[in-house]
Amino acid sequence: SLPCRSDATAEKEMTLAIIKPDGLYDNYTDKIKNAISDSGFRILNERLVQLDEDAAMSFYAEHSSRSFFSDLVSGPVLIMVLEKENAVADWRTLIGPTDASKAKITHPNSIRAMCGKDLQRNCVHGSDSLQSAQREISFFFKEKSPGSGSMGHDEL
Ligand code: UDP
Repeated sequence: SLPCRSDATAEKEMTLAIIKPDGLYDNYTDKIKNAISDSGFRILNERLVQLDEDAAMSFYAEHSSRSFFSDLVSGPVLIMVLEKENAVADWRTLIGPTDASKAKITHPNSIRAMCGKDLQRNCVHGSDSLQSAQREISFFFKEKSPGSGSMGHDEL
């Protein structure tokens, strides 16, 4: 039979969440953070940054949506590392579908239904796989040596 894992030993996972410029601009940070903690995630680390175009393009680099980075540079973003069991999939479920206007109908309890507007302005990001999560977390939280520069993220 399969070994039984208790909660105490269950493995935690990390994912990368971003409150995008439209979400910050419309003051949804507190509501989104409440949804994060109500759903059992812990925020391990966060940074408020302004991305430039190069940083946004390389963030979406391996991505079919590379051309959609413009929303990410239209204002500051709040980058957060979330921790929980099954964090990657559970955060994607909590944020809901990409098109926020459809999410309002099909996933009314999702974060994108709450604070997004449409396909582009969907207020939050979530890593789409464990591999993306690892890449995206190190993209923003790589150890910086003193004087190494900000690699296109201006700390706010
Ligand atoms: N996006 C867009 N138009 C599209 C597809 C994507 O503006 O047709 C934007 C949208 O902001 C989305 C981001 O590009 O969140 C990344 O796209 P992806 O398909 O990865 O959606 P996500 O993983 O964010 O749900």
